Amino acid sequence: MRRALLVLLAGLAAACSRRHPCDKVAQDYDKLPRLAPVSKAAPVTLRVLYLEDERLPTLTAEGRAELYRRVEALTKRWYGYTLRLSEVGARPLRIEFAGERMPFASPDQAACLAASRLDLETKAGKEGLLYLVGREYAVRGREVFERLFPETKGMDPYPARAAAAAKVRSVNAWLAGLETKAGALVRSEEDRRLTSTLHWMVYIREQTDADFVLTNTAMIEPDNDMPVYVLARGGLTTGFVDNNPKAPYGAAGVVTLLPFLGGERLFDPSAKPTTASENVDAAATMWLHELGHFLNRYGEMYGETGCVHVASESLAYFKWHRAIRKADNKCSAPPAAVSKF
Ligand SMILES: [Zn+2]
Repeated sequence: MRRALLVLLAGLAAACSRRHPCDKVAQDYDKLPRLAPVSKAAPVTLRVLYLEDERLPTLTAEGRAELYRRVEALTKRWYGYTLRLSEVGARPLRIEFAGERMPFASPDQAACLAASRLDLETKAGKEGLLYLVGREYAVRGREVFERLFPETKGMDPYPARAAAAAKVRSVNAWLAGLETKAGALVRSEEDRRLTSTLHWMVYIREQTDADFVLTNTAMIEPDNDMPVYVLARGGLTTGFVDNNPKAPYGAAGVVTLLPFLGGERLFDPSAKPTTASENVDAAATMWLHELGHFLNRYGEMYGETGCVHVASESLAYFKWHRAIRKADNKCSAPPAAVSKF
């Protein structure tokens, strides 16, 4: 799904006769087959693999079974699919991602990932962030940008870009410092890998054990292709669906639980106190957003409330979830379908 910058960088590299490390990844994307929406004519069974970070709030096997049943019921109600989520394994995330045969350990992918990381502590990282914020401002337009970054309302584009970048940096630093049972969420290179959206993307694109991975962590490592709604959440991605030519439905996805299992205390102090049951419900709403991508092949939507296809515009996930449930998922129009993520 995050492809625009890979292609742009490949183009720039060609212009200055230098091979960019992501060339191979961009070429692989061009070879992917086109996707059609999954048929509703027969029941759909999706395999789920649960990967757990032991430092963070967890969901028990019973809790996960309850989540799967709620997702299945909502998928029938909102999308008309008969879905069965079948858990095929539960493993420690740290051990899974330490594997030498993980796809992100290959030389091509490792070079691309290193080149795509944005270290917001460095001058280059800060400049990369400003470039990225400016790109999203130009592509999405002022209205969407101001909705996602309300602090930029009425500003000229240049100061708006600087104000948005400062917000991304401060929210991201707060996310990286979230308390776990063993200190801050991100303290080491290993923690960075576990919380890196790009590492997860490579993992999901090559995943053969499952159609969806469920994990109790969150993805917060900044990279040079974050879309505007991810920027507005300080770099946080809570789930995604990506192409996977080896998977039965041509795609695979991940859903994270940290913003939901933490209840309102962790990410959303403006929400009224939540219950354990509502936390699971909110995670189910998030999963339905990803299933819209997976089953219907929907692209991203912007600028509506009460519609599950529009991602949460801030860290106020419970506000987002409650508006969707109150409206019983009403969208002004279905999102446009894509032929590749
Ligand atoms: Zn989405």
